[in-house]
Amino acid sequence: ATPMALAVATGEASSLGVLIRDGEAFQELGKVDVVVFDKTGTVTHGRPRVVDHSLPPWALSAVLSLEARSSHPIAKGVCAFLTDLGVQQVPVEDQAEEPGRGVVGTVDGVRWFVGRPDGDRWDSWSREGLTVVEVRRDREVVGALALRDPLREDAKRVIEELVSRGIRPMMATGDSQEVASRVAAELGLQDWSFRMRPQDKLQLVNRLQSQGMRVAMVGDGINDAASLKGANVGIAMGSGLDLAIESADLVLVRGGLYGVVGAVDVSRSLTRIIA
Ligand code: ADP
Ligand code: MG
Repeated sequence: ATPMALAVATGEASSLGVLIRDGEAFQELGKVDVVVFDKTGTVTHGRPRVVDHSLPPWALSAVLSLEARSSHPIAKGVCAFLTDLGVQQVPVEDQAEEPGRGVVGTVDGVRWFVGRPDGDRWDSWSREGLTVVEVRRDREVVGALALRDPLREDAKRVIEELVSRGIRPMMATGDSQEVASRVAAELGLQDWSFRMRPQDKLQLVNRLQSQGMRVAMVGDGINDAASLKGANVGIAMGSGLDLAIESADLVLVRGGLYGVVGAVDVSRSLTRIIA
């Protein structure tokens, strides 16, 4: 497109709350075949609240202290809940975030893990659509928390409008099969995958590309950074982490998820001008 046309389009996109970080990628957006959505913080608000838990009182301080250093939306929800209970932090050594899995750290010489469950023992919560966070101390399960993270109001409409434009929407989440299938059903999404680690999301994008498809990826977390970079067009939620935003070509700074549809339309009108 001419610099003039691109400038106009950039202005239109910006009025829809879409910030363009890479003009070439933006021009490609109108031609994408697939849009892959992350779940937590992308099709959901990303402000999960704890609605139930099975932790013994002696475990609460360690959980709070490990999660206090994580920037994941789940960690924020867990911390808000425990802080409201009056739980105090204790010192943690070697705390580390495992993207798409959880956090680890040492408290009083013992290794703790807070994050994605290994098995299916919390399935009754998952079947209710709750995201489960398991707590393990020295590899032994001590309990879990269940969180609810409502869908964004515009998510279903965004999916429908992409379909009506001939674009195939997909969802790739690190969360469990139960939660993923429930969210997919609520959104009317046919293509979805669960328990996806950051490298799995990237692999999915690459596989679609090797089948000849142009792919846009929408995400908000560190777990999405690689796939945002690998996609033809990476779109970050403005509420997302810096790493996600820095990895993206477009940023939805306001106006919610609907900016994806608006940006597709503006990009397509740009392509028509050049043709
Ligand atoms: P999504 O792909 O839906 O955005 P993530 O890949 O970020 O989800 O996380 C996948 C799963 O890993 C979560 O459902 C949760 O069980 C677990 N998890 C990741 N980070 C954390 C954390 N800081 N605290 C607790 N659980 C976490
Ligand atoms: Mg996310």
